[in-house]
Amino acid sequence: MKAHSFDLVVLGGGSGGYAAALRAAELGRSVAIIEQDRLGGTCLHRGCVPTKALLHTAEVAEGVRRAAAVGVQASLDGVDGAAARAWRQKVVDGKHRGLQSLVRSRDIAVIDGRGSVVRHDGRPAVAVGDDVYVGDDVVLATGAASRSIPGVTLGGRIVDSEGALALDEVPRRVVVLGGGVIGVEFASAWRSLGAEVTIVEALDHLIANEDPSSRTALEKAYRRRGITLELGARVTNADVHGDGVSLTFERNEEATTIEADLILVAVGRAPTTSGLGLEDVGVETERGFVVVDDALRTTAEHVWAVGDIVMGPQLAHRGFRHGMFVAETIADEAPSPLDDSLFPRVTYSTPEVASVGITEPQAIAAHGADRVVTREVSLAGNAKSEIVSAGSDARGGFAKVVALADGPVLGVHLVGERVGELITEGQLAVAWEARADDLAPLIHAHPTQSEALGEAFLSLAGSPLHTP
Ligand code: NAD
Repeated sequence: MKAHSFDLVVLGGGSGGYAAALRAAELGRSVAIIEQDRLGGTCLHRGCVPTKALLHTAEVAEGVRRAAAVGVQASLDGVDGAAARAWRQKVVDGKHRGLQSLVRSRDIAVIDGRGSVVRHDGRPAVAVGDDVYVGDDVVLATGAASRSIPGVTLGGRIVDSEGALALDEVPRRVVVLGGGVIGVEFASAWRSLGAEVTIVEALDHLIANEDPSSRTALEKAYRRRGITLELGARVTNADVHGDGVSLTFERNEEATTIEADLILVAVGRAPTTSGLGLEDVGVETERGFVVVDDALRTTAEHVWAVGDIVMGPQLAHRGFRHGMFVAETIADEAPSPLDDSLFPRVTYSTPEVASVGITEPQAIAAHGADRVVTREVSLAGNAKSEIVSAGSDARGGFAKVVALADGPVLGVHLVGERVGELITEGQLAVAWEARADDLAPLIHAHPTQSEALGEAFLSLAGSPLHTP
């Protein structure tokens, strides 16, 4: 076995892994990334980036359909699924090349192969074939993969998000199994592209972790868009037959079967932690997730874990932050502590749902109903919102702020077209523990949808301008 020595060895080159590598290299460390597929991982190749490209194709189609509402004559003659897919790939390839050259520019060694964690001469290391990459520290960043449920086997017309992105056609009738973020995003895209869409969700709500106001607004908008919602429905079975597929679910002990051309399985993603030799080096896992302390240290000395293998919200930007955090901790830079509630969350559907901090029920549970105040400002009166959502079945939305009475803002929740771009302001407010009266004097440009958030701060500070 040939040994190669580095300051830091990173297993997995996705968002968490490459961020750790880039920051460590910036801090003067020698770094190797072990990657079995391509740098950029799920987010770049099979997740965030291509799905946002699919959603943009859908938004353009939707825009053509709505064109008459703003005085433009246009007709939607069809969607070329193969051309849309080729364009998505071009976006991904460009970003992949950019990432490769960035990593090269920092002299990071990228090792192509499947690694497993070992110890070598008492140091943590990653073995790849006959080579062993030994580090002062090892960062585990192996991400997560789609899972399914009993009775539903992936294959053919039953796809996960990766299979859905590989399609060259828009399915005519599609059933989305799971009303979490992935299910909701694909349902939105396919509906805009002309498909009949049904979402089957076991819980009573879509995007169940979001504030009740947000999930209710999304459900209302989806129904107006003609998306069928089967909520509180537990899926028991899926069958591929002839040229179709059927899905059976139970609700109130009654079974219903629906027919479709395609089923998307979006019931969550499981951490990739088996088969890596973790138990052999003393890295403990719990329900598949790597057990870590507040500083992302695993139970094995000098082995760290970042991103989706650490229990919490599975978000690419959480991976980035984890990666930077670990590299800085190793370099004694004392980064700010991590807080899962401070990672902004965006569901890129039509309408978009964005949030940061905690929901109203979480705030009440933590502080008591008498200490929590909220303001919800509708986008109905907002000029920019009316303009950008002209002709949409999903127009409207709101900005909602959850705060402590005489205390800081605890959560910001937004629903509406393009509101994902506005959540950064919410993040600054929540993370800086700003109070509504600190924020109320700040001016929001007119006309922007951010004015609704400004109005919520004004109202909470006791000086509303456009609301009662
Ligand atoms: P999820 O956990 O968000 O949602 C899965 C949904 O499936 C849940 O609502 C669950 O109740 C439902 N479900 C589970 N078993 C079921 C059954 N038998 N019958 C009916 N419904 C069932 O998972 P996801 O949507 O697959 O996404 C995976 C991860 O990726 C999430 O953590 C998500 O936040 C992340 N992600 C984020 C973004 C984004 O930030 N925009 C985009 C895509 C994915």
